[in-house]
Amino acid sequence: MQIINPATEEIIAEIAEDTESSIREKYQLVKKGQRAWAVRPVGERIAAIEKFYGLLEEEKDVLAGTLTAEVGKPLQQSYNELNGARGRIRWFLDHSKQWLQEEWVVTEGATREKISYEPLGVIANISAWNYPYLVGVNVFIPALIGGNGVLYKPSEYSTLTGQHIQRLLYKAGVPSDAFQLVAGKGKAGEVLLELPLNGYFFTGSYKTGRSIAEKVAGKLVPCQLELGGKDPLYVMDDVEDVSKVAGAALEGVVYNNGQSCCAVERIYVQDKVYDAFVKSYTEQARKMVVGDPKDKATEVGPLSRPGQLEFLKEQIADAVGKGAKLLYGGGRVGAVGYFIEPAVLVDVDHRMRVMTEESFGPVVGIQRVKDDAEAVELMGDTEYGLTAAVYSASYERAEKVMQELNTGTVYWNCCDRVSAGLPWSGRKHSGLGATLSYQGIRAFVQPKAYHIRP
Ligand code: NAD
Repeated sequence: MQIINPATEEIIAEIAEDTESSIREKYQLVKKGQRAWAVRPVGERIAAIEKFYGLLEEEKDVLAGTLTAEVGKPLQQSYNELNGARGRIRWFLDHSKQWLQEEWVVTEGATREKISYEPLGVIANISAWNYPYLVGVNVFIPALIGGNGVLYKPSEYSTLTGQHIQRLLYKAGVPSDAFQLVAGKGKAGEVLLELPLNGYFFTGSYKTGRSIAEKVAGKLVPCQLELGGKDPLYVMDDVEDVSKVAGAALEGVVYNNGQSCCAVERIYVQDKVYDAFVKSYTEQARKMVVGDPKDKATEVGPLSRPGQLEFLKEQIADAVGKGAKLLYGGGRVGAVGYFIEPAVLVDVDHRMRVMTEESFGPVVGIQRVKDDAEAVELMGDTEYGLTAAVYSASYERAEKVMQELNTGTVYWNCCDRVSAGLPWSGRKHSGLGATLSYQGIRAFVQPKAYHIRP
């Protein structure tokens, strides 16, 4: 498997893919090792993860360099991702014991009752490339703390980062028979689906997620899916500083080169502030520095996958063909690397792919709306349900809108963010189940009910 730097198109590494038989061997190894890992006191497992937490800081320069080289993320954003991942790990370190300990329900009388939480067993963590640390940590950290064995398949676009993760987990004391990396593409993922695993935790596209859910359905084991989005941002006419809101929206669109599951993918703006918003958004988009992700000044690096440039161009052409106006951007930058200028489309509507299909790039359509009711209707006109943002001076007004939205997350005066203490979940085609928060600890264990007659 060749690892290609999306900024230079150079091959930076060649990795041997796992075969069906090597994956089966890894499974046998982890199946045996998981029991020994599970019977260790939870404090010991937490201590290993605490070391991993420290190692991410110690080795951050190497890790950030690799991440930027293989996915094209601006270097500062690679550091930000590592920091964010450490923040999440800290949360798990501080809260896992509380949610994994036995709970006594009845302590007196003839029959005592308690609940204990046992690991699921050996689980698959089939992961995405856009935030390999963040989306990985959501799964393998609580899974390991909960006493599970993990077969971790990083995306084929972030395997070098996956290898760092494995190396550092081992260095931190996680045994190799509790955690194994499976290197490969979709085919390697499919082998995992055939194994008799005890849970499937997937981050990626709706298309793959759905096919995984269908294939493992008969096993009747937990299958959690963190999938894509087409996340809207709505600007009400009472916002105080239109330029500031436009800047925040732009960051929500272009951060991570537009490749965030919860990126802002479409914007609705109320009449009164529409013109000012569009003007400011476009001016700020023009100033964005697109280029070498290793350069400190760079705000937008290359797209991570080669085909994505063409995909975005097609979305833009489809919109323009149906009457949209391209105010700025959308052109390829340079002859080498998968760079694209942030694109701003107006006069858009929901007949256009750019308003309904996940873009996963720094491209956005801005649509004018007359009132909250129209905004709610358009925001909900999607197959996805990951996040939605509302900007307004009034929390009461924003909350009414937020209550009507069928998404796992809502934001008032912010966007494109995730918190370790809150459940991360998608509705409709954005996913099934939740990670993070206490729910993301409990997702990796199963309850056992004890009826005890002393
Ligand atoms: P993808 O679906 O192409 O791949 C995800 C993973 O699945 C990879 O490891 C891939 O090798 C594996 N895979 C592919 N085909 C498979 C098969 N048939 N069987 C088993 N495994 C298979 O997604 P991607 O391009 O890596 O990620 C981008 C998508 O992920 C976007 O839609 C994005 O919105 C979504 N995402 C969601 C979240 C979230 O938290 N909701 C976070 C990050 C990314």
